[in-house]
Amino acid sequence: MTQTYSRRRIVIAGGGTAGWMTAAALARTLGGAIELTLVESDAIGTIGVGESTIPPLVNYNRLLGIGEAEFMRATQATFKLGIEFENWKVDGESYFHSFGLTGRDHWTAGFQHFWLHGLTKGHDWSFDDYCLELKAAHAGRFAHLPDNRMNYAYQLDSSLYAAYLRRLAEADGARRVEGKIAEVELDGQTGNIAALRLESGERLAGDLFVDCTGFRALLIEGALHAGYDDWSHYLPCDSAIAVQTESVRPPVPYTRAIAHDAGWQWRIPLQHRQGNGIVYCSRYLDRDAALERLLGTIEGQRLTEPNFIRFVTGARRQQWYRNCIAVGLSGGFMEPLESTSIHLIQRAILRLIRMMPMSEVSPRDVAEFNEQQLTDMVQIRDFLVLHYKATERRDSPFWRQCAGMAIPDSLSHKIELFRETGRVFRKNEELFAENSWVQVMLGQGIMPRAYHPVATKLSDAELDHLLHGLRESVERTVASLPRHHEYVAQYCGAR
Ligand code: FAD
Repeated sequence: MTQTYSRRRIVIAGGGTAGWMTAAALARTLGGAIELTLVESDAIGTIGVGESTIPPLVNYNRLLGIGEAEFMRATQATFKLGIEFENWKVDGESYFHSFGLTGRDHWTAGFQHFWLHGLTKGHDWSFDDYCLELKAAHAGRFAHLPDNRMNYAYQLDSSLYAAYLRRLAEADGARRVEGKIAEVELDGQTGNIAALRLESGERLAGDLFVDCTGFRALLIEGALHAGYDDWSHYLPCDSAIAVQTESVRPPVPYTRAIAHDAGWQWRIPLQHRQGNGIVYCSRYLDRDAALERLLGTIEGQRLTEPNFIRFVTGARRQQWYRNCIAVGLSGGFMEPLESTSIHLIQRAILRLIRMMPMSEVSPRDVAEFNEQQLTDMVQIRDFLVLHYKATERRDSPFWRQCAGMAIPDSLSHKIELFRETGRVFRKNEELFAENSWVQVMLGQGIMPRAYHPVATKLSDAELDHLLHGLRESVERTVASLPRHHEYVAQYCGAR
């Protein structure tokens, strides 16, 4: 086999979370084998939101060899054990989607089947009582436990994270160019991108281009017209306003998603401040009313001016098109409800590294990349739609629209299967595993009508022993954990 490698020139357009995550990962893994340039515009800046993450980010940082305590100091991060969903099923009720497992699954059936059997036997404890991460979150406690028994993510300052990754990427040989892209130059013969021309006149030629220009999608859409699938008929929110405030209390290890009559609000506690925002559907709430609602409910001194953001939920039809790959908001956006955007950035980067072209871009790699990335997005979309569709709220036109909307068949199947049998199956390495679906479906009020017969094989005493034992073990562990904010201070303070 003969194969010639030439040093590929990779140009990343944009330096937000997506741009610097891509640059840091490519520079660290491919180093001298590529020539890496990132161009970003200080005048344009970044979107300035994106602070709540999910557990796979822990692995991304590990792959890059990032020390956790140093990273948390640099980004003012806190630990995150899940999301508290308030007012989603009905106004006044909450449930928690945790990153942990609930109870103990049997190979034939998930723990929910045993819990459901317990209900018929008079055990009236909540499903929540069997999940360590959930109970620790509510108690405001956290610690690293042996064997990764505590599954967690981070709440972080995204601009500090980008700055941190920039230092790594530059140390690993990435070149940063400051300037505004004025033109995307196409090759007349192939239709590929040949170069980016900056306002300064500089020309950045490349073999492969990564579009991290955010919602602008300057390369993948502006120049290449890859197309966009609009999913707003499933995910109707189209606007957000964000503000940062001083913290008024110690940070809790979870994010809050508080539904209101035309969308929801977030609260993300960091070490040094809190991120707040309102997400809404402009058809039912106008900008002034949304701002008033946000400012009327935040706590603590405001640190920033309101950041107004418009978006169309959906996905770029081709995430990789010709010699351009969309990473980040340029590839689509589905809502920050389950903090999945940074995760999709990470997935795209890992895929790009695995499918890095040898010389010419292979159409097979492109097709594979697009199929895998889109599968992730569709699965996440379904999970998000569940939160809106499975509501008992009928108190506003927004919630009536959500409750009445048609949903993807894949989601209907999952909901009906759970309702009829209590079963959930994870397919195709789906991001959200069975326990996530069970927690959210129960939380949104979908109660199974039946459960697996294996649960009835336990005698009353065995069932009692199982349920008591698991619950007590969770309680004991939670009681032994330090307070989250004290643990963060001690962990980040230790050098
Ligand atoms: P941006 O941050 O917009 O960066 C774009 C970059 O391109 C900038 O550097 C800009 O200067 C550059 N650029 C653009 N045009 C030009 C040009 N002409 N010349 C040169 N440079 C240019 N994700 C999560 O995972 N968790 C969350 O909690 C979360 N919350 C969110 C809340 C809201 C309301 C929104 C809208 C998104 C949220 N996200 C969240 C998504 C998250 O913010 C993004 O995935 C992440 O910030 C990546 O953005 P980006 O880098 O793609 O784009």
